[in-house]
Amino acid sequence: MATTPVPDWLQKFTGLNSWPDMNPPYIPLDFINFANIPNIPLRAPGTCPTNRLQCSFDCFKCVSHDDVYTCPRLSQTFDDGPSKFTKNLLKHLHSKATFFTLGLNVVKNPDIYLDIKNRGHLLGSHTWSHKFLPSLTNEEIIAQFEWSIWAMNATGHHLPKWYRPPYGGIDDRVRAIARMFGMQAVVWDHDSFDWQMESKPPQRTKKQILNDISRWKDQGRGIILEHDVYKSTTDLAIEINKIIGPNQMTVAECVDGINYVKEF
Ligand SMILES: [Zn+2]
Repeated sequence: MATTPVPDWLQKFTGLNSWPDMNPPYIPLDFINFANIPNIPLRAPGTCPTNRLQCSFDCFKCVSHDDVYTCPRLSQTFDDGPSKFTKNLLKHLHSKATFFTLGLNVVKNPDIYLDIKNRGHLLGSHTWSHKFLPSLTNEEIIAQFEWSIWAMNATGHHLPKWYRPPYGGIDDRVRAIARMFGMQAVVWDHDSFDWQMESKPPQRTKKQILNDISRWKDQGRGIILEHDVYKSTTDLAIEINKIIGPNQMTVAECVDGINYVKEF
C-alpha cells in the first residue's frame, strides 16, 4: 500500500493536503489549555536542569505518578518504526509486544502498521519526527503529538493512550501537554542499547546484549527498550523473543490499562 492518504476531515481541519516533513506545523486544538503547562525553560539535547524539580527521566531517571516504567513480566517494546524490517520481526514474534511508532514512518508504511495491529500487538506514539521534546516550544511539542496521533488515526483508526518520548526526553512540561491528549508516558527499566550494534565502529555486540537479557530474565520483570528499524536489531529481537518466551505483556497489560483512548 502507498502512503496513508490525508483524510478529508484532516484536510478540512488543517488546511493541508499532504503530511508534514520533519517540522510539523502547529495546529491549535480547543482542548489544549496553556494554563495547565508549567513554565519550564527549554533545554538542548544532552543538557540537564540543576535540580530534579522538573522530573526529567533522561537526566535523573525521574518518573511521575502516571509514567509506566516497569512490568510484572519481562516484556519487549520496539521504537522508531514501522520499517521494512518490522515485517520479518512480526512473522517470528511469539508474544504480544508494544510498538512506539513515528508518525512519519506510520504514513509511509501503513500496511506494516496494520499488520502490527492485526496481529494483536499494541501501538503507541513515539511522536511525529523524533525530536528531543524538552528542547521544543509548547506549540512544537503539541505539533509533534497531534500529527503523530493523526497519522495513527488515519492509518489504524485509533487514538493512542501510550507514548514514549524520544531519547527518554521528558519532564513535567512534556507530561502536562501529553496528558491533555489523554496520553501517559512509557519509559523503561531495561535498555538493550541494541542500536549501538549499528554505530561505526559498533559500540555493542550481540553477546553483550544477550548477557543482559539473561540477567533480566532471571530477575523476571521489566520493560526492555529495543528498535525495529535495523536488520541487526530485529534479527536479535527474534532471538530475544525465543529466550524470554511467549509469556510477555503489552505495556497496557503491564498496568492493567486500556489499549487506546478511542478505537473507531
Ligand atoms: Zn526513538
